[in-house]
Amino acid sequence: MNVERLVRLNIRKLTAYVAKEVPCRVKLDANESPFDFSSLLEKLPSIETNRYPDPQGRLLKRAAARRWKTKPGRVLLGNGSDELIYYLITTFGGPVLFPVPTFSMYGLVARALGEKAVGVPLDKGFDLNVQRMIRAIRRYRPKLVFLSTPNNPTGNCFSAERVFEIINASRGIVVIDEAYQPFASGKGMLPLIDEFENLIFMRTLSKVGFAALRVGFLISEEGMINEVNKVRLPFNVNAFSQAVATEAFRNYKEIEETVKVIRKERERLIGGLSEVRGIKPSPSEANFILFRVEDASRIWKRLLKKGILVRDLTDVLDNALRVTVGSPEENDLFVRALRDVLE
Ligand code: PMP
Repeated sequence: MNVERLVRLNIRKLTAYVAKEVPCRVKLDANESPFDFSSLLEKLPSIETNRYPDPQGRLLKRAAARRWKTKPGRVLLGNGSDELIYYLITTFGGPVLFPVPTFSMYGLVARALGEKAVGVPLDKGFDLNVQRMIRAIRRYRPKLVFLSTPNNPTGNCFSAERVFEIINASRGIVVIDEAYQPFASGKGMLPLIDEFENLIFMRTLSKVGFAALRVGFLISEEGMINEVNKVRLPFNVNAFSQAVATEAFRNYKEIEETVKVIRKERERLIGGLSEVRGIKPSPSEANFILFRVEDASRIWKRLLKKGILVRDLTDVLDNALRVTVGSPEENDLFVRALRDVLE
């Protein structure tokens, strides 16, 4: 049977997103936290394995709402924020507009759902190119504009004034993806949901020690949340993840301690990288650092030979690699390996 013949045209053209599992000694490719919170698993309430989870995730929503000083009705849970991106584009459709380079999932999901994806290059300093963005907004009239700030993979926050200009120019919805906000120096833009009707925020627990759970959050005004909730699968966040994530919020002080360590390590790592000849690290407000190096793909391979896995960005940005901030030991190993490879 020729299966492809039956597949929708827009899907035939796609290739699957492969989250590569490359064996390595030091894993610094996926913006995970080096801190593991499996000790929380001992504190869990008992879970009836024969019952479906709470379809609304009430306890978890309440805990998240308390953390972000909002109401549970303004929160929607996802199986990671990836799933929420799916839900957003399913609900509102396209065109979907975003700056490039940015998180690849906005474009991938748009194309999987048969919607137009429009990427607008960032400026030289990796900030939003407002003129080009606004021109594209007028031309394509996007239903959704995705802004990841801090931005993956560049690591910087977009300037607030430029974000405001995009929000004001947009007739559709602006999604501000704050996956990396815990690592930024500013407070983030969440309070703006009271000021603008067309804003949706995304947060996740994946970057602060809970990537295994797959728990992400949409935060917006209630009417907006109710619309997206229509396309949500009934039990999208499983009982174990709900329980662990709720416990995580109860222990958020511990998480904050690890975030502090990661931020400090980030500065140390930027210092270490700047001292390596031929390396230009970009400033970062996230838990990863983008750096330019000649012949990036070759350097990536040579690092891997030494057991160090980073992210090769050459398909989105010339001569660029991205390293996640790991534990102090991991960061030292990485810098030493990079020095060996280059010198
Ligand atoms: N947004 C951004 C900007 C990301 O970089 C990532 C993870 N790479 C996500 C969302 C997805 O996070 P989650 O694990 O919650 O699906």
